[in-house]
Amino acid sequence: MSRYWSPFVKELVPYVPGEQPKQSNLVKLNTNENPFGPSPKAIEAIKQAVDESLRLYPDPDASNLKSMIASYHGVASEQVFVGNGSDEVLAHIFHGLFQQGSRQPLLFPDITYSFYPVYCGLYQIPFEAIPLDDEFQLRVEDYKGINGGIIFPNPNAPTGRFLALAEIERLLAVNNETVVVIDEAYVDFGGESAIALVDRYPNLLVTQTLSKSRSLAGLRVGFAIGSAELIDGLERVKNSFNSYPLDRLALAGAEAAIADDDYFQQCRQAVIVERERMAQELGGLGFEVLPSSANFLFCQHPEHDAAALAAALRERGVIVRHFSAARIDQFLRITVGTPEQSDRLFAALKEALA
Ligand SMILES: *Cc1c(COP(=O)(O)O)cnc(C)c1O
Repeated sequence: MSRYWSPFVKELVPYVPGEQPKQSNLVKLNTNENPFGPSPKAIEAIKQAVDESLRLYPDPDASNLKSMIASYHGVASEQVFVGNGSDEVLAHIFHGLFQQGSRQPLLFPDITYSFYPVYCGLYQIPFEAIPLDDEFQLRVEDYKGINGGIIFPNPNAPTGRFLALAEIERLLAVNNETVVVIDEAYVDFGGESAIALVDRYPNLLVTQTLSKSRSLAGLRVGFAIGSAELIDGLERVKNSFNSYPLDRLALAGAEAAIADDDYFQQCRQAVIVERERMAQELGGLGFEVLPSSANFLFCQHPEHDAAALAAALRERGVIVRHFSAARIDQFLRITVGTPEQSDRLFAALKEALA
């Protein structure tokens, strides 16, 4: 606390990201990064972009990247918004599309991405957290009341559970007064994208990121796809905030990553294969593992306290994520690693469980 802070700043409750340790010998399975590197073509494109042209501002509209994302997903460029990571895209969505005069609550699940309530605090948006069912599934019936907007990740985080597109459509059919945002940070690991629905529902917005499935968390590139009117609203917010959220290196890397579909397909398949092996092994060690469509597993051990297990793993050089929130404080969220990393996880777990 400082007396120089505004009362507003004193009230903020910031997001706490997972640890980014300084030691490099740790097996880092705590923040859902991709264990495989980015496309070599993306790395090369970034290197090529390092030249004297860095004295110039980047394209404020990121038009080339937008048109590549548009053609990849079969939509028009006017339906694509890009930002400095999907977190920034989400911030503009909360600011521009959820901060409604009606003061009806924004709806999202009780167990979900913990940045949503943080943005509600930043932009003073009332919200209501709707409990997932006992299997941690979202019930669309619970979202049918009057609201100021709806947002959830699909697959959800940190549960990994996927909601079928038909269910999302059921929700859209009865909710056309407010914006519905599907946060597809993990969709490439087993979900089905709601982008297929944006042309039929002008209030649907889908966000994705290059951080997870394209291994570019360090580059900070995310995007949203929806109707031109929603995108136009986001552009107004962005152009009132920062004209150049994506720098020249980010644009070059992102464009090359989108273009290299072969590498992307290989990489996400490898993660999916390893996820299934990991789920098997964890099951063999006595864990109850939720079905996952993401690049992480959410699991609990009936005989071991989750916080104690996370600490025991940390001592053995393996970091996983533990949340102390109600309902999930006995779970661990473990990012899918390389086969070698998983083997180190299993070895450490065997010791910790013994
Ligand atoms: C990782 C993640 C994001 C943020 O991704 P960035 O593009 O790296 O900002 C957004 N939503 C969910 C659910 C995530 O897990």
